[in-house]
Amino acid sequence: MSLTTALLKPGEADRLVAGHPWVYSNSISRLTGPANDGDVVQVKDHRQRFIGVGFYNSRSKIAVRILDRERTDFDSAFFRERIAAALALRRRRLPEATSFRVVNAESDFLSGLIVDKYEDVLVVQTSSLGMDKRKHLIVKVLADLFRPTAIVERNDMASRKFEGLHESNEVLHGTPPERFTVRLNGLEFSVPAGGGHKTGLYLDQQANYAAVAGLTKGAEVLDCFSYLGGFALHAARAGAKNVTALDQSEEAVTAARSIAEANGVKSGLTYETANVFDWLREKTATGPNERLIPRYDVVVLDPPSFTRNRAAVEGALRGYKEIHLRALKLIKTGGILATFCCSHHVDARLFEDVIVAAATDARVLLRRTHSFSQSPDHPIIPAIPETEYLKGFAYEVVR
Ligand code: SAH
Repeated sequence: MSLTTALLKPGEADRLVAGHPWVYSNSISRLTGPANDGDVVQVKDHRQRFIGVGFYNSRSKIAVRILDRERTDFDSAFFRERIAAALALRRRRLPEATSFRVVNAESDFLSGLIVDKYEDVLVVQTSSLGMDKRKHLIVKVLADLFRPTAIVERNDMASRKFEGLHESNEVLHGTPPERFTVRLNGLEFSVPAGGGHKTGLYLDQQANYAAVAGLTKGAEVLDCFSYLGGFALHAARAGAKNVTALDQSEEAVTAARSIAEANGVKSGLTYETANVFDWLREKTATGPNERLIPRYDVVVLDPPSFTRNRAAVEGALRGYKEIHLRALKLIKTGGILATFCCSHHVDARLFEDVIVAAATDARVLLRRTHSFSQSPDHPIIPAIPETEYLKGFAYEVVR
């Protein structure tokens, strides 16, 4: 069967040849024939050199998502091989984990597909039309590979409308429980099916929870933007003296409290519903001739992405600077700041510039002790910069 070809404009091929899978609609000069949205097309450069095959969607800014460099049938054998390779990577890099991201879209050469494993339940997101149309094929492969009790879709993200897709949250296989129990580093997090952030919680911090907890023994800890208490609970288990955790969502705080209880943590862990900006402002306010006494040994900052796009970066940097400045004022000399940024538009260099500027204003000097990234089940492909988004650092307050 002959495939319709999307011919590129001159100069548009290099990025794709290097491994990036997105062909923007404005880099295509023409299609050589008809193609329905969701169909497979081949991509060639302006000299007719073959680049790859992928799913076409005229409605999306990303007109083709390349999935293979050779002509391939996107059948169950294809999905089985790709998903099995992704799973093998997790087994190598996170051998102890029972809940993890199985497929992370571009990171696993499956643009448009996310699969999370929450113990024996799988949660699927399809963010491209081509992938969405093959959902039932993918579900069969997943059912066969994992033998899960249920596979559910979590397709309620707004971005689907750019692909001409509707929001949809269906049970695709089996019978899901009312709540998913997720085990991370031996702690249990129960999240309501279909509720919560992302597909339920933040799997991308799994490795960092353990790393940061390692710094908290005997410490007075503040966890800002705590959501279900990932950092707070790990710190409490690691022997922190006291942990205060803040989130503005009442629902998240209530859930976090019952998660702590279910894990047998009874004392030393306090969840507060609060706006972190207001809370920090209040705690760092000083009257005339009053000096602030720093109270914390470890402060964790893990805010949501303040930037949805490049245009929002400046405002986001102001926000990052403010919380760092105030958090640093609350850390004792010799104490630790562990801070994260999940915005792809703010890279590690820019993020650290903000932290250093805040430290200067707070009149403290920092020594970097750790660099953090997203957990290994969210692999980074440098040729696809969008696959890298989470970065973090830990610093010791030297003086
Ligand atoms: N640290 C968490 C993830 C944080 S996600 C974890 O590891 O799971 C960001 C959280 O910040 C969300 O739970 C959101 O409710 C909360 N949030 C957003 N803006 C806030 C604000 N201004 N003050 C307090 N919490 C906020």
